[in-house]
Amino acid sequence: MSQRVLITGGAGFIGSHLAEKLLDSGMQVAVLDDLSTGRFENIAHLVGRPGFSFAIDSITNAIVLDRLASESDAIVHLAAAVGVKLVVEKPVHTIETNIMGAEAVLKAAARYRAKVILASTSEVYGKGVRVPFREDDDVVLGPTSRHRWAYAASKMVDEFLALAYHQKYDLPVIIVRLFNTVGPRQTGRYGMVVPRFVRQALAGDPITVYGDGSQSRCFCDVSDTVRALEALLMTEEAVGQVFNVGSTEEVTILELAKRVKKLTGSTSPITFVPYEQAYAPGFEDMQRRVPDTTRIRAVTGWQPQYDLDTILKRVIAWLQA
Ligand code: UDP
Repeated sequence: MSQRVLITGGAGFIGSHLAEKLLDSGMQVAVLDDLSTGRFENIAHLVGRPGFSFAIDSITNAIVLDRLASESDAIVHLAAAVGVKLVVEKPVHTIETNIMGAEAVLKAAARYRAKVILASTSEVYGKGVRVPFREDDDVVLGPTSRHRWAYAASKMVDEFLALAYHQKYDLPVIIVRLFNTVGPRQTGRYGMVVPRFVRQALAGDPITVYGDGSQSRCFCDVSDTVRALEALLMTEEAVGQVFNVGSTEEVTILELAKRVKKLTGSTSPITFVPYEQAYAPGFEDMQRRVPDTTRIRAVTGWQPQYDLDTILKRVIAWLQA
């Protein structure tokens, strides 16, 4: 019998790619999404495929979640407040969605002993300066007066809760800390830098580098990310552990702007925008963010296949189309 997987947030950018991947592998996929940041268009092409179903509702609807959990062997919990911009603008929504959502999912999963993959984030490494980040590193967050850190703190609570369910009730849980994921269907609306830069370059608008552009990130293609999620789902040894999922190809944001400009053949100027203007007064950015991916490679053999130029070309092609 094929695996039945429930994807919360399945109409989102990562969720919709995962749904497609798991269907391709012969699994049955149910999507639960309230379309707050997800889009029905992301999954419209899956409707009618054997084994695919969806429910448009919130993960806080206990009745719907209970029914879907009862019909699932595994739940991939991706539904969450997404994007630094959204987090800074809507802190109450972020904290409530992330904490109450994970709690609801874990409770429902425990009722039917469904395996849970909980999506966490590289944000939990906060202001750590010892790169690359390893899963067992200490974390350093900024003060509670800076809303940005609410995202990391809420995801840390989710991680603690998931690991507690594993320890106390033997619930099979796997935690993934996703590093900057990019690819087709990601919108720049919630602040994500790659789709923003590509849109700006294609439109001939200024490419807006926040701060001095010396901050760096590693961008992972969404198809690599969903391959990692599937590999972890299928690996018994992964249960009870935390995994970084990301690329290790580091690039500064200024270099990223230059590459996007070059690959699009754009005449857009590159401009520098102070952080307090881009986000809010007192905004704190992370200077470097690089994952150590030794653990996931050791357990599943996974490593990313796409390099940055290929990733950018895919995003450019998608936004042009
Ligand atoms: N950024 C930028 N210009 C933009 C959007 C983002 O320079 O128009 C920067 C942002 O300040 C951060 C990096 O790009 O240093 C990555 O931002 P994103 O929101 O994509 O992800 P984050 O790593 O902050 O979660």
